Amino acid sequence: MLLPSFSYHQPASVAEALEMLGQYGGQAAIIAGGTDLLVNMKHKKLSPQHLVGLEGIAGLDEFSSADGSLIVGPRLSASALAASGELTGAAKVLALGAGALGSPQVRNRATVGGNVCTARPAADMCLPLLALGAKAMLAGPDGSREVTLQEFFQGPGLTAKRPGELLTGLKIAKPAEGSGAGYQKLGLRQAMEIALVNVAAVVMLEDDGSTIKEARVALGAVAPTPLLSPGAAQALAGRAADEAAIEAAAEAAAADAKPIDDHRGSAAYRRDMVRTLTKRALKQALAQAQGNEEAQA
Ligand SMILES: Cc1cc2nc3c(=O)[nH]c(=O)nc-3n(C[C@H](O)[C@H](O)[C@H](O)COP(=O)(O)OP(=O)(O)OC[C@H]3O[C@@H](n4cnc5c(N)ncnc54)[C@H](O)[C@@H]3O)c2cc1C
Repeated sequence: MLLPSFSYHQPASVAEALEMLGQYGGQAAIIAGGTDLLVNMKHKKLSPQHLVGLEGIAGLDEFSSADGSLIVGPRLSASALAASGELTGAAKVLALGAGALGSPQVRNRATVGGNVCTARPAADMCLPLLALGAKAMLAGPDGSREVTLQEFFQGPGLTAKRPGELLTGLKIAKPAEGSGAGYQKLGLRQAMEIALVNVAAVVMLEDDGSTIKEARVALGAVAPTPLLSPGAAQALAGRAADEAAIEAAAEAAAADAKPIDDHRGSAAYRRDMVRTLTKRALKQALAQAQGNEEAQA
């Protein structure tokens, strides 16, 4: 399969990239790792005449901080995130998701920005970011804005990104003491597999180390977008961190899931797996929050 022909552009700044996107309009596409875009171009689903690469823009492949938050550069690869020491406490959930994506070759190219902009319901880096309460930082012709990922994901492949906008970072609150996270992925194969169901969980404990202050559980492949379970969050907040709370949250997550039947699995099976993976992810998260990371489910 041959790629259609295109011109390649390498802006040196965000401002220059925005200018190019404005100039070429609907004929332009941003390219990061290319693991989605080039595949779609080879399959003739897309045929942009101008590709705008991001590798000449300094800082987009780095971590930074602002307003007490950690900013994850959109061009950081899944490999870099999986191995990063910057992701500590509950933020480690992003490293876990990144390490579960594709294969080593794909992880070396695939970026977190590309994963978020592709907005697949089961995307391995989207669920951890959703569970962390991340915001998408966007720069466009009308200035910069921030959008929560809940608002950003609008459907399979659909986002709140406007034409001509560039994702410049993913902002997450610096993880508090006593926070922990878990990530669980079920696929039909062990590797090179989009999840059949995946779950990311983030918990924050009170100072007593045994009461749950706040929790977020994100579910993948069971709705048109990565989904936050309001029921699981409610079942956990203010409760003792014990088996009963985990069971209640798993039931609530299964009730919040909106799976469909398809050739990869039935809706009923997916709902069952939401229950199982939610329990495992929460046990993993609580073990980390309580400083007992070896005790994983
Ligand atoms: C063999 C294979 C296996 C895979 N396995 C998995 C898997 O297990 N889990 C998983 O989640 N995904 C998987 N994927 C999908 C893909 O690798 C990921 O979605 C990846 O993170 C996309 O990142 P990228 O940098 O390659 O994006 P690109 O292909 O470069 O871009 C994807 C889209 O995002 C846009 N974009 C990229 N960066 C920006 C930005 N900064 N601002 C605005 N728009 C931007 C592009 O214009 C394009 O529309 C797989 C892909 C392949 C080919």
